[in-house]
Amino acid sequence: MRADLSKLPSVERLAQSVEQHVPGNYPRSLIITCAREVVHAARERLLNDTPTEVDLQTLLAEVQTLLHRRTAATLTRAVNATGIIVHTNLGRAPLSERARSAMVEAARGYSTLEVDTESGRRGARHQHLEPLLIHLTGAQAGMAVNNNAAAVLLALSALVNGKEVIVSRGELVEIGGSFRLPEVMAQSGAALVEVGTTNRTYAKDYEQALTANTGLILKVHRSNFVMDGFVHEASIDDLVDLGRRHGIPVMFDAGSGCLVDLRTLGLPNEPTVPDAIRAGCDLVTFSGDKLLGGPQAGIIVGQVELLHRIRSHALARALRIDKLDLAALVATLQSYSDPEKVWDEIPVLRMLAAAPASLRATAEDLKLQLEGVLPQEWQIDVVPTVAEVGGGSLPEAHLPSFAVQIRSSIPADRLDASLRSHHPPVFGRIRENALLLDVRTLLPEDEEAVVRALIEVSKK
Ligand SMILES: *Cc1c(COP(=O)(O)O)cnc(C)c1O
Repeated sequence: MRADLSKLPSVERLAQSVEQHVPGNYPRSLIITCAREVVHAARERLLNDTPTEVDLQTLLAEVQTLLHRRTAATLTRAVNATGIIVHTNLGRAPLSERARSAMVEAARGYSTLEVDTESGRRGARHQHLEPLLIHLTGAQAGMAVNNNAAAVLLALSALVNGKEVIVSRGELVEIGGSFRLPEVMAQSGAALVEVGTTNRTYAKDYEQALTANTGLILKVHRSNFVMDGFVHEASIDDLVDLGRRHGIPVMFDAGSGCLVDLRTLGLPNEPTVPDAIRAGCDLVTFSGDKLLGGPQAGIIVGQVELLHRIRSHALARALRIDKLDLAALVATLQSYSDPEKVWDEIPVLRMLAAAPASLRATAEDLKLQLEGVLPQEWQIDVVPTVAEVGGGSLPEAHLPSFAVQIRSSIPADRLDASLRSHHPPVFGRIRENALLLDVRTLLPEDEEAVVRALIEVSKK
């Protein structure tokens, strides 16, 4: 062991050798840091009597790996072949071409973010968004903040601080772990008044809970779960009627924020924002990156006077939307102004609307490409699957889809892991010991990436 210790190169020697033999022009300080870590780890292994190679070549390779790991980006593009359209862990909605260009345009240099170009005076960032929101939802006013959780927090903070908010026990939801409605309410300073039972709440339950201190009636869309059986909920119409009679504003947290009628696709009814405004809701909040198909954002639309109070609250500044997301959101909403084009331009809508026959054709095409390049003994088939909307939206929607199914000598979980560590990583899923790559969530440029990833993985 002592003999091996004496064979360990010095950090300086290893670093020099890295500079001579490892391509990539890494900064010297980083090379020294990595070389020191590698030498230190090798010495530890020797001192623990762990069998270990300490020749220069081995250590050089270790430094190279470490350098790559320290400098490579970890947030990269990924291929979503899971069949889950709004996949929260994979970044929710992929953006439209128009939204991506708008983001680049706003990022490239200075922008007209908060300036009125006519007068040259200071403007508001909401000026770019508000006319579109009014046009598309029928509301009197609108704005956007960081995300829908922020929208709910801000609206409650500005409108009910200290007062009571009435909510159905059936709607005290948790969205993705970190957004629990009762906790958001506590943060906002609103006092939560729960009415009804888990499965049944009537308008009269809300009515009986009204006091002189009631600040808001809140309805929350149960976007991520389904209640079936002996159930009842008060309709938006009932709550609006109640609110009007008592002079209490009614807010609807719509969650997914759908602007189009999805029933035309044979999907379950998702309440749309224009419907909620038409029904008389005073305020509606929704996400930008779920069914809307845009960037992360929380959108608030409703009555002018309420929006004015929300905008002037101190938290509005802390929760405001940034200029890149704003640019992408405006561009996304512009697509909605053309009801013909929107289904083509917004990837989430395109994926939702894709016909099974065309998905099968895509899967057959991918299968043919793969058969041409993968080893003969790999078994590649096109199989029917069920895709999901995801992102806590429309949990009961089952979208018929197709996947390329791959069986090979490599166990499915190992194949899956190798595809995940490829660049760009490919995310599929495993069913009955086979790897499935669902084509409903593939973007046009993804097919080539899938083929390249599988070729490489098959050669390992
Ligand atoms: C998703 C969702 C939220 C949280 O929205 P984020 O944009 O993820 O912050 C809040 N309320 C409901 C009903 C939702 O579905």
